[in-house]
Amino acid sequence: RRAEARALAAEDCRTADGVRIEVFANLGDAAEAAPAVAGGAEGCGLLRTEFLFLERQSAPTEDEQLAQYQAIADALDGRPLVVRTLDAGGDKPLPYLPMPQEENPALGLRGVRTGLHRPDLLLTQLRAICRVRSKGTVAVMLPMIASAAEIRQVRALLDIAASETGTSAPLLGVMIETPAAAVTADLLAPHIDFVSIGTNDLTQYALAMDRQNAHLAAQLDGLHSAVLRLIAQTAAGAAGTRWVGVCGGLASDPVAAPILIGLGVTELSAAPSMVAEIKAVARAVTLEDCRDLAAQALSLDSAEAVRALAEDRLAALL
Ligand code: PEP
Ligand code: MG
Repeated sequence: RRAEARALAAEDCRTADGVRIEVFANLGDAAEAAPAVAGGAEGCGLLRTEFLFLERQSAPTEDEQLAQYQAIADALDGRPLVVRTLDAGGDKPLPYLPMPQEENPALGLRGVRTGLHRPDLLLTQLRAICRVRSKGTVAVMLPMIASAAEIRQVRALLDIAASETGTSAPLLGVMIETPAAAVTADLLAPHIDFVSIGTNDLTQYALAMDRQNAHLAAQLDGLHSAVLRLIAQTAAGAAGTRWVGVCGGLASDPVAAPILIGLGVTELSAAPSMVAEIKAVARAVTLEDCRDLAAQALSLDSAEAVRALAEDRLAALL
């Protein structure tokens, strides 16, 4: 089976009944891009751009950023590239980005809020993304969105970036990682081209459990019914956008993948090492299997029960 998965890794992913599921990779720097493609990634569903900004004394220039994004786009060779804008905040301090001391960094100036606090930094990044040349789709994705107003503010900056660089604006999407965004996905959808659910933060904020807290790690499971219901609501609200994706840890979990597909997710962006396995799972199931499993999962009251059910189903299919 492993050999078979490797052989099929390069091919597009469809469920057993022919539903297209795009399986992308999460990337953290340019060096990861070519190996991810070799491992079967059909694109990059989340480029974490923090690597460009950390461990330096000044912000990366537009040209420095462009060089890195272009290298990744080139390695992807026309496959989609989704660039997430800087997701820095109180927990990831940057010397050139002085931030107020915060008692609750996870609830403070982070994600898109940092970008709107320092629009000069955000505009530079948006200009660099606008200048990437690719045969395929290049898209901007905003972290930690909580309301449509934030999207409108970034959209205005993106229009400026595109006109200043003489380019057309790339696709614009948002991460769904606050419960606010999940339950209002239908209100956000008209402003954007796609969504991608960040299940790491969505789980943290839905359960009010710090994702860094070792004592809570066992309970921080994205298969918790509350998180599954938020995912279902997101998928229903954002259906019809270009991608209803997941880029959090749940997308790298073979047990979770059929449930996500059953809830309406059409794109999974996984850790590069998990892409081939996620594709193999998606190919083994039908949409009907997935919908049936998802419906049952939504009625269970613990992540353990959901996991046990999904493991049983998967064992029977694989
Ligand atoms: C997430 O929160 O699920 C996510 C993908 O973003 P990060 O892990 O970078 O916060
Ligand atoms: Mg996140």
